[in-house]
Amino acid sequence: MTITTAIKDMLGMEARITTLHNLFMHGLKDIYHGEKQLVDALQKMEDTAQSAALKRMFAQHKAETEQQVVRLESVFAALDETPESETCEAIEGLIAETEEVLADSTPEMANESLLFSAQAVEHYEIARYTALINWAQQLSRPQVVKLLMQNLAEEIAAERKITAMQGGNPARAAEEAVGGVSLGKSRLDEIAHEQTARQAKHQAAANGKQKH
Ligand code: ZN
Ligand code: FE
Ligand code: FE
Ligand code: FE
Repeated sequence: MTITTAIKDMLGMEARITTLHNLFMHGLKDIYHGEKQLVDALQKMEDTAQSAALKRMFAQHKAETEQQVVRLESVFAALDETPESETCEAIEGLIAETEEVLADSTPEMANESLLFSAQAVEHYEIARYTALINWAQQLSRPQVVKLLMQNLAEEIAAERKITAMQGGNPARAAEEAVGGVSLGKSRLDEIAHEQTARQAKHQAAANGKQKH
């Protein structure tokens, strides 16, 4: 018996998550809450962004996020459930962190600071939709899988855009490196070199922009 179950026993509390369906519903309510928080957060990020391209990116993802909320409501409907929220501590924390890092940043660092935060949010969402989709599959809910896949696709597209704006994608290069194909040291050097070149180009462009 763990300490938590011992305390729950003492208080006469029962575990609410006893089946995969329960866990799925918890995750669904959690991401539903998170997405609703993100609509407002993305609006603030758009307002704070210091370049037209970044503003456009946040505006587009905000519009997508509004649709994601509607899709999640369709998921509840498909399961004969009423949409309900469960506080997503993670998204609330990520939003709080976004505001904190931004408050600490000079206006020149605002864009990089926003990308830093937005990247973390998209990765969280990708993780959660991945689990929800796998569970919906196990629970034989093809309609739910389809709706959640649309949200996942938008998160992946957003993550790619954000990562490209940040300069490059070391994760993709690392994936290649762990991908099984034995990459010789020369190919790893090449990847590192490409990454450095892309980063330098990005830095030069950013420096150029700041002069105006
Ligand atoms: Zn939760
Ligand atoms: Fe989302
Ligand atoms: Fe959450
Ligand atoms: Fe997103």
